[in-house]
Amino acid sequence: MEKQRYERPIIKKLESNMPNKFGMRTEYRPMTHIDNVGVKDLINEHGSPLFVISEKSVRDNIRNARKAFETRYPKVQFAWSYKTNYLDAVCRTFHQEGSWAEVVSGFEYDKAIHNGVDGSKIIFNGPDKTEDDLEKAIKNNSLIHIDHLDELYTVRKLAERMDIKAQVAIRVNMDTGIYPMWDRFGFNYENGQAWDALNKIMRSDVMELVGLHTHIGTFMLSPNAYAVAAGKMADLAIGIRDKYGHEIQYIDMGGGFASQNNLKGAYLPGTDINPTIDDFAEAITSALINSNFKPEKLPLLILETGRALIDDAAYLLGTVISNKRLSDGRRSTILDIGVNVLFTSFWYDHKITPAQPFTQHTEDTVVYGPLCMNIDVIRENISLPLLNKGDHVVIQNVGAYNMTQWMQFITLRPRIVMIDLEGNVHVVRERENLQRLLEFEKVPEHLKTFEL
Ligand SMILES: *Cc1c(COP(=O)(O)O)cnc(C)c1O
Repeated sequence: MEKQRYERPIIKKLESNMPNKFGMRTEYRPMTHIDNVGVKDLINEHGSPLFVISEKSVRDNIRNARKAFETRYPKVQFAWSYKTNYLDAVCRTFHQEGSWAEVVSGFEYDKAIHNGVDGSKIIFNGPDKTEDDLEKAIKNNSLIHIDHLDELYTVRKLAERMDIKAQVAIRVNMDTGIYPMWDRFGFNYENGQAWDALNKIMRSDVMELVGLHTHIGTFMLSPNAYAVAAGKMADLAIGIRDKYGHEIQYIDMGGGFASQNNLKGAYLPGTDINPTIDDFAEAITSALINSNFKPEKLPLLILETGRALIDDAAYLLGTVISNKRLSDGRRSTILDIGVNVLFTSFWYDHKITPAQPFTQHTEDTVVYGPLCMNIDVIRENISLPLLNKGDHVVIQNVGAYNMTQWMQFITLRPRIVMIDLEGNVHVVRERENLQRLLEFEKVPEHLKTFEL
């Protein structure tokens, strides 16, 4: 028989009223494989830390989301929110599944063009579109979602000069019962700003009003807020029809559906309490169907869902650097994963699972990253089995925003791989190296040499 590994005994006070006498456990089984590929093999081949994206999960997610909406509403179009994860491999997976592109900057716009998305299938959102960006978007027939009056005037001026009718919508913000309100983007519904902008567009002959857009927040936990928003969007669209005899082509409800991640401070895990995509679909589609649109005149429904489609499709693998006792006696574990690559640890309690078998003993642990910074905390408090130096962990639900908001800070950013449907592993982004970073730097002549 193989010799069992020694594990030191732990004496632990039993708390009454806990679910069982060992207290809450977070993990019962190790996560040794992702889509049938061994975690250890991945780390040996590609280094640690390592982001791993499951192509199968991405495709399953978008197909489920489409099913949720298409079974409830006649005309649905998804547009992939680039800022949520703009790796080309991820964007192209969504485009292969029929999603258009939703971008919020000139850089993202160019990336969508580079990925081969037809200009007319790019939705251009955001408050910062330069004149160059807008010229490109007008020329390519892209869907320009106007954010403020200054932008409206610029689009009007450029379209006149270029003698092309710009395809525009306005972004509308509104009171959906969720506070604080997201009223910094777009035109307000309640105070008449939205109507003011719509009147200006309708009275111009160089802009074609094709749709209405809203994006009411992010990680929204209330499907009802979407029902309120969809109702107000329908009222605006019907108002435009009645006033101008003009029918818009689409209502774009934006993104913001919560993923299954665990928000900090939530008592129960996200998988138990967060609404599902079906809940959001039901709220939005029933509000539109119950509005005053004639059934055959229902507009196309566009969704810019980001995090809910990608969060659970990516994993971050890492390695234990060390364990130590804090001065108050708590156990702490230091991983090679820092907040610079796991930005979302500031607002999520990420699930951390050991990648190798473990015994049943757990202990409250603080999980730190490797940065020389006090704020580098991955989990303030997690009940984990004992982990030893060199052991591996899998952090789950990391697909949204981490691979776009990460920072090159103290450490270099790691490699990203994608596991395809056949289990082949593809490198989709190389790890950074010193040479790459130095390419951006220039040293003035007089600083080139020194003596110490
Ligand atoms: C960020 C953003 C999205 C995606 O939001 P998620 O919360 O990731 O679903 C969609 N539309 C707009 C305009 C956005 O700014």
